[in-house]
Amino acid sequence: MAAADASSPDDRPENAKSGGRAASRNFIQQIIDADRAAGKNGGRVHTRFPPEPNGYLHIGHAKSICLNFGLANEYGGKFNLRFDDTNPVKEEQEYVDAIIDDVHWLGGEWDDRLFHASDYFEQLYDWAVQLIKAGKAYVCDLNAEEMRAHRGTLTEPGKNSPHRDRSVKENLELLEQMRAGKFPDGSRTLRAKIDMASPNLNMRDPVMYRIKHAHHQRTGDAWCIYPSYDYTHGQSDSIEGITHSICTLEFENHRPLYDWFCRELGIHHPQQIEFARLNLTYTVMSKRKLLELVRDKHVAGWDDPRMPTIRGLRRRGYTAESIRAFCERIGVAKFNSTIDMGWLEDAVREDLNERAPRAMAVLRPLKVVLTNLKAGETRTVEAPNHPQKPELGVRKVPLTREIYIEQDDFMEDAPKKFFRLKPGGDVRLRGAGIITCDEVVKDAAGAVTELHCTFDDDHSRKVKGTIHWVSAEHALSTEVRLYDRLFNVPNPDDASEGKTFLDHLNPDSIEVVADAKLEPSLANAEPGSRYQFERVGYFYADPLDSQPGRPVLNRTVTLRDSWAKAAGTA
Ligand code: ATP
Ligand code: MG
Repeated sequence: MAAADASSPDDRPENAKSGGRAASRNFIQQIIDADRAAGKNGGRVHTRFPPEPNGYLHIGHAKSICLNFGLANEYGGKFNLRFDDTNPVKEEQEYVDAIIDDVHWLGGEWDDRLFHASDYFEQLYDWAVQLIKAGKAYVCDLNAEEMRAHRGTLTEPGKNSPHRDRSVKENLELLEQMRAGKFPDGSRTLRAKIDMASPNLNMRDPVMYRIKHAHHQRTGDAWCIYPSYDYTHGQSDSIEGITHSICTLEFENHRPLYDWFCRELGIHHPQQIEFARLNLTYTVMSKRKLLELVRDKHVAGWDDPRMPTIRGLRRRGYTAESIRAFCERIGVAKFNSTIDMGWLEDAVREDLNERAPRAMAVLRPLKVVLTNLKAGETRTVEAPNHPQKPELGVRKVPLTREIYIEQDDFMEDAPKKFFRLKPGGDVRLRGAGIITCDEVVKDAAGAVTELHCTFDDDHSRKVKGTIHWVSAEHALSTEVRLYDRLFNVPNPDDASEGKTFLDHLNPDSIEVVADAKLEPSLANAEPGSRYQFERVGYFYADPLDSQPGRPVLNRTVTLRDSWAKAAGTA
């Protein structure tokens, strides 16, 4: 989808602007309200989040987690975390552990209800036997290619498998032998006997079991047949007493099958409800693409702060609150759309504006000598930790004869509207006083190396500009990483003109400032703490790379959305 289709923070609905308290109920709440009014499930609400442990969770999953957990919470119901671990070839314990940690971090609570579809393998097998006995399932000897050829198309019905009418006895024996490992991978399947002429391809005798001689991270070598997603999902929901099985739109065509299995087995029948998945501009969300970014080292890992993974967002400095607020704001819909990345960035900006203490940091230092201060003299300036929150207190910031300001806060040939420092001009040093630029010192090549200024601590004088600064003598030198969007086009998935998503990587998505100058109070910054560097952005003390006394800072987000401006939507 192109940028024009994406909504920007400025055209979001009124209810979103007022903090997401939508006046009307979303369509899923309406369904649940009606179910409760009708006394369905005894009024219970029980949801689940069913990740497949074949990758790390991303911001799209966060939407599903917040939705499922949020509904359980709202109705005083329950929420389960269940791993859909039916494909041992792609799944790993590393992913299981990371997913548990990320769902928890986001605020999901499942008490003792952490489950795995593999917990139900024996029950699923027994149900397969039950379906064979009822004449509703059969063992099929067609290989994958033959099965495809029999399947038909959207406009043509499929052909019955030649094995469709096997006797119950033969089917039971063959299934037992499949389970016992008598046959090679892919040589046989167990299929549901539904309707090869169904207009819904999912109903054309779908596969229930495949032979796969593969080690499973939980069941080990106990099984060499594995149930399909469709045969597993609804029954797992049923076993857990799920009432509302909420999933993304691509499963709409699978719902008749979900219903068929529950009905034929005569078991508790949860209601599947589909909603539109989250798509975001300037990023990719396919697990395959995320894996490729990691594997081919386009990023530093799953937790690279530029990744849309929960791990990456955490390392970037996003708070769980901001992600929940974002998910609340975007709401749930039945139609696919793409949300502007600016919404996500806005959510964290708003949250950090409230909670992040202020500090001063100079990223590209220009030395300024305050000629009327004595060398060695240190004055102390008190600065509020938060301009709107006096309860957060003040901190002491040292002011000395030599300070640093940002290079771009000085301009030699400044236009009229430039209200920062220029030769002969005045500017306010945040919290300290006013300086006047008397002399510009340059090197042989003509580059400005330092400024000589007069300091005046008369706070009553009026000047137009205020800049941040750091004492050169007391500055803490450290590494600051300026992260930006990983892709430089709104839709990196766009494969036109033979391009791949990798062609759209933003070469400027990370800039490492090796020697930024921070006010000395930051030496005590705890790893994992967050700051607003005044006029610069929001920053997060990296929990892995920070050293005692020398935090390394990741930029979470700039103070303003520069991308919207670039795209002309601001
Ligand atoms: P795949 O199944 O291709 O490996 P997936 O992203 O669907 O990828 P799952 O682990 O199956 O991964 O997803 C778990 C749950 O998260 C599913 O219920 C799925 O519908 C939901 N989900 C996945 N991506 C999104 C998204 N972008 N927006 C909202 N929900 C999502
Ligand atoms: Mg999936």
